[in-house]
Amino acid sequence: MAWQRVDLTTAQIDHLKTLVTGLVSTNESVLDQHGRDESAIAPVRPSAVVMPRSTDEVAAVLAYCNKEKIPVVAFGAGSSLEGHVLPLFGGISLDLTEMNKIIEIRADDLLVRVQPGVTRMALNEKLASSGLFFSVDPGADATLGGMASTGAAGTTTVRYGSMRENVLALTAVMADGTIIRTGRETRKLSAGYDLTRLLVGSEGTLAIITELTLRVFGIPEKMAAAIVRFPTLAEGVSAATTIVRSGISIARCEFLDAKCIKNVNAHDGLTLAEVPTLFFEFHGSPQGVQEDASSVKDIVEEFGGSDFEWTTDEGARRKLWQARHNAYWAGIAANPGKRAVSTDAAVPLSKLAEAVTVADELLAKYKYPYSILGHVADANFHCFIVTDPSKPEELEEVRHVTHEITMRIIEMGGTCTGEHGIGSGKIDALVAETGAAAVGIMKSIKQSLDPNNILNPGKVFN
Ligand SMILES: Cc1cc2nc3c(=O)[nH]c(=O)nc-3n(C[C@H](O)[C@H](O)[C@H](O)COP(=O)(O)OP(=O)(O)OC[C@H]3O[C@@H](n4cnc5c(N)ncnc54)[C@H](O)[C@@H]3O)c2cc1C
Repeated sequence: MAWQRVDLTTAQIDHLKTLVTGLVSTNESVLDQHGRDESAIAPVRPSAVVMPRSTDEVAAVLAYCNKEKIPVVAFGAGSSLEGHVLPLFGGISLDLTEMNKIIEIRADDLLVRVQPGVTRMALNEKLASSGLFFSVDPGADATLGGMASTGAAGTTTVRYGSMRENVLALTAVMADGTIIRTGRETRKLSAGYDLTRLLVGSEGTLAIITELTLRVFGIPEKMAAAIVRFPTLAEGVSAATTIVRSGISIARCEFLDAKCIKNVNAHDGLTLAEVPTLFFEFHGSPQGVQEDASSVKDIVEEFGGSDFEWTTDEGARRKLWQARHNAYWAGIAANPGKRAVSTDAAVPLSKLAEAVTVADELLAKYKYPYSILGHVADANFHCFIVTDPSKPEELEEVRHVTHEITMRIIEMGGTCTGEHGIGSGKIDALVAETGAAAVGIMKSIKQSLDPNNILNPGKVFN
């Protein structure tokens, strides 16, 4: 169904107020907060914001919106980067942040059950006292519902997997208000179609997730961090891919170019040499992490890596990784008043050095400040490109360059998005990557599950 913008009537807003115990708001600042994400895409306000507190309340809201044909855009922390949460056709923003209970921690089964509004940091604070941690760590303190819906990943994915590997089961509400449960609390499952993984990464277009069962891990006995510098971007990247192929057990391996290091130095009060740099982390026994670090040192030296430093000091390790997690904000802080576009290419491991070089060469032809960083052990990297929001023509040109980079990545056998998702920003790239026939199958799944197209219309495909 094609949409025109939907603004709710007073009667519809009054009815929604009878369906939830949380807030239903048309306050301008609340609408503004729910009309933007962290992308540079222009904001669009919803007509109202609705905050349910239970699965049953979500079901009642969806049944009503389906009957009234009101668009529903789920909202977690709003940290996504491709216009995902923008209510392009008005309707309601369904804010899940009041559903923020950690329902159960089952240390013996290495799993937790949570509501979708719990953030990854809140979960980890709670888990620490049980000697456990949840591994998926995007740079923002995102909600677990939002992370499942975007198929999020992070710095530890090379060792522990992304949301796709760590969501075991879900409770979800379908567009007509039907409540379903997918998956089981088991490590293995081969029962029927895998609806859990259909919903993970579906960006709020197929269902609203109201409960998640997640895998967690024991906090390792020892953690060590290491850092090494390279003469060029390509040498650092080649060293990283060689380490992955060697099978050394790395828990994290991240690349930051010289501009990125300059920004994190200023933002986090570090004094790192402003050259291409790899950050590593190792998890295991005290002897194991030492052996892993030593093997990595041997390999990086073959690629011109120098000034290898490593530490098991917990404070230093945390400081380094906090700086890495702040890299996006450090880039924003270095460019006051500006917004950023972040690419998200992932390629087969052997193509990573070539892909990074192609992106660097294309971006160097334009005037926009940029830096390159990435989860290189997963052959996934981001170009962080700065634009001026007061000059919309800049965003258009940057989008043009990033599309060119994306097309080159797809030619190399890569993907337009390793972890951020499609949103409204990469709809054409999805067709180029997957083909019209496969996108046609996705559309028929959407048509079957959400025939009135109320769930996040205008995302993933048109
Ligand atoms: C500084 C920074 C660093 C980042 N680093 C990374 C990174 O390393 N890896 C990575 O993967 N991403 C990263 N991101 C992107 C972002 O954090 C992730 O996409 C995250 O998963 C979004 O979660 P959220 O709670 O903010 O979701 P939102 O932005 O609120 O929503 C994201 C999408 O999910 C849908 N949604 C939200 N909740 C639900 C629900 N309960 N049910 C159904 N649909 C729902 C929304 O409608 C929307 O389509 C980064 C972003 C920033 C700003």
